[in-house]
Amino acid sequence: MKRTAASPPKMGFRDWIGWMFFVDLLHGLRLTLSYLFSPSITLQYPDREKWIPYPRFRGHHYLRSDSDGTTRCVACELCARICPCHCITVVPHTAADGERRPQVFDIDLARCLFCGLCEDACPVEAIALGQNYEFSQYTPAALRADLDQLASMPGKVDRGGYVVAARLEAGTRISPTGSTEEGRHWWQQIRGMRVKRDE
Ligand code: SF4
Ligand code: SF4
Repeated sequence: MKRTAASPPKMGFRDWIGWMFFVDLLHGLRLTLSYLFSPSITLQYPDREKWIPYPRFRGHHYLRSDSDGTTRCVACELCARICPCHCITVVPHTAADGERRPQVFDIDLARCLFCGLCEDACPVEAIALGQNYEFSQYTPAALRADLDQLASMPGKVDRGGYVVAARLEAGTRISPTGSTEEGRHWWQQIRGMRVKRDE
């Protein structure tokens, strides 16, 4: 008889052996036990170390510009339309060169879900979510990012997934401080994880 798409997959001999002897459970327990005897790892953030996320991380938004410094955004408002939180405000205008550009472009980061839908919807790849996660503020109003702020935010780095040395600059912000070796040292102790190096 022909199997329909809804039929459960047929179990083979290896599947039956694995099911009878709880092989998956034993694999899980082995992993748990291996971590029990691994050294404890604590990231000394923000005083000494700082995690650089992978490029797929969705952090603070930024707006891309062309080589002449003109924003790529054509103020089509698609990002504002698709945003599930309605936290993007775009007011278009006609620039001196006759092109449609944003006169106002605000994102209320206090309401943003960091879902990335605005990045997906943008037809000219003007908006993107970068790797910066250090933008906490004391008031919700201060979390409203305007056009200038978004244009000046750093873009994605081409790689991530490592730790850099960092230090607390009292009253201002955390920033990397040159050498990355100190931060990488403990990270490489984590079992089974490989970290790419800058050679
Ligand atoms: S990441 Fe999601 S919630 Fe945040 S501004 Fe973009 S679409 Fe809206
Ligand atoms: S960022 Fe992209 S989607 Fe949003 S208004 Fe500008 S061009 Fe349109």
